[in-house]
Amino acid sequence: MPLKREYDAVVVGAGPAGAAAARVMVEAGLSVLVIERKKLPRYKICSGLINEKSLRLTKKYFGDIPEECYCRPRIIKGVRLWYDTKRSRDWPFGEKGAPNVWRAQYDEWLVRRSGAEVRDLCLLSDFTMDGDGVKLYCKDSGEGRGGFVEIGCKHLVGAEGCLSSIRAKLNPELEKRSRWFLAYQNYYEGSSELDPEWYHGFLDPRFGEIYGWFNVKDDYVIFGTSCKKGGRFAPYLEEFSRFLKEHFGLRLGRLARKSSCLGTNMCATGNFYLGKDRALLAGEAAGFLNMFGEGISSALATGLLAGQAVARAGSKSEKEALEIYTELSSRERRETLASWRLASRLAGRSVMV
Ligand SMILES: Cc1cc2nc3c(=O)[nH]c(=O)nc-3n(C[C@H](O)[C@H](O)[C@H](O)COP(=O)(O)OP(=O)(O)OC[C@H]3O[C@@H](n4cnc5c(N)ncnc54)[C@H](O)[C@@H]3O)c2cc1C
Repeated sequence: MPLKREYDAVVVGAGPAGAAAARVMVEAGLSVLVIERKKLPRYKICSGLINEKSLRLTKKYFGDIPEECYCRPRIIKGVRLWYDTKRSRDWPFGEKGAPNVWRAQYDEWLVRRSGAEVRDLCLLSDFTMDGDGVKLYCKDSGEGRGGFVEIGCKHLVGAEGCLSSIRAKLNPELEKRSRWFLAYQNYYEGSSELDPEWYHGFLDPRFGEIYGWFNVKDDYVIFGTSCKKGGRFAPYLEEFSRFLKEHFGLRLGRLARKSSCLGTNMCATGNFYLGKDRALLAGEAAGFLNMFGEGISSALATGLLAGQAVARAGSKSEKEALEIYTELSSRERRETLASWRLASRLAGRSVMV
C-alpha cells in the first residue's frame, strides 16, 4: 500500500516503546505511522521476560499475550542472583511469575495491535524540523517499493532503541559523553542443572563488566556477558562457561545463534534525553533501561507517556508535547536511576556508571 505523505505522528522503531506510543496516539484519534527498518517479525537480543509492570501495561493497553509468543518454560519465577556457587538470593516476579516470550513474536503482536499503519523495511535516514512539523527522509526498501520517500508529520516519536540516530542528531554531545557497553550472548542447544524456571545472574566480576546471565528458552540454553565498548568479551565468556560447566553441569550442543548489541550508561547516570521541539524520544532511545538490563517495562511506560503527551498537545493543552512528556516521565526517570543504585549495592561495586 502506498504511504500517505502526511501524518499527525510518525513513530520510528517497532519495539515496545514504539508500539505503546502508537497505541495511545491512535486511541486519541491521530493518524499514526510506525516505521521499522527490519522485516517483521524481527529478532531482538533479549531474555524476553515480561515482568509484573510490563505485564500490567501489556494487558491494559494491548490485551492478553497470545500463546504463540511464549516459549518453554512458559513462566519464569524470578531472578536468582548468585554470589558464588552456593550463595544466592531470589527476587521473585510476583505471584504469577513472568511470561517467557520470544521478542520477535511479542513485539510484532504489540505493534499490530497498536492500530497504527506499520511499515517494515523502512529506515529513517534523516529528518529536518521546524516550528510547524517534521520532514522525514526514509529508505523504503520492501518489494515493489520506490526507494527513498519523504514523509511529513506534526510530531516524531523516536523509539529506535539504544542506537538512536534521532538522539545522535539532536544531541551529539551526549553520544560522545556517554560510556558504551557491549552485551553479548550465545544460544546453544544443551542442558544444565540450573533451574530453568529461574533467570540466573552471576555477580562475580570475572564473568563480566556488569554480570553474567543464564536462562532457558525452548531447547536453548542462553548465556551472556557484557564489557566496555572496544573491550574484549571473550575472556569473560570463556571464564563464565567454564564455571557453569564445572559447577552447574552445563552441557553444550549445537551453537544456534550468537548475538550482541550496544548500550549506554545514560540510564545509570540519569542522563536521559527526552527529545527536542517536535521530536520526543522513548524507551532505550531516551536512555531508559532498568537494573541488570530489564527494559521492556520502561519502554512501554515511556512510549505510553510520549504518546499521551503528543495527543494532549494536539488537543486541549496550551503546552508543547515535550513539556508535557517531561512532566509525565519524572517518576520513570527517578525509578530507573534508583534501580541502578540498587544494582551497585547488590554487586558491591559501581555498575554501569
Ligand atoms: C541480552 C539482553 C537481555 C534483555 N532481557 C530483557 C528481559 O528479559 N526483559 C526486559 O524487560 N528487557 C530485557 N532487555 C532490554 C530490552 O530488550 C530493551 O530495553 C527493550 O527492547 C527496549 O525497547 P525499545 O522499544 O526502546 O527498543 P527496541 O526494542 O530496541 O526497538 C527499537 C526498534 O527500532 C528499530 N530502528 C532502529 N533504528 C531505526 C531507524 N533508523 N529506522 C527505522 N527503525 C529503526 C530497530 O530495528 C528496533 O526494531 C534485554 C536486553 C539485552 C541486551
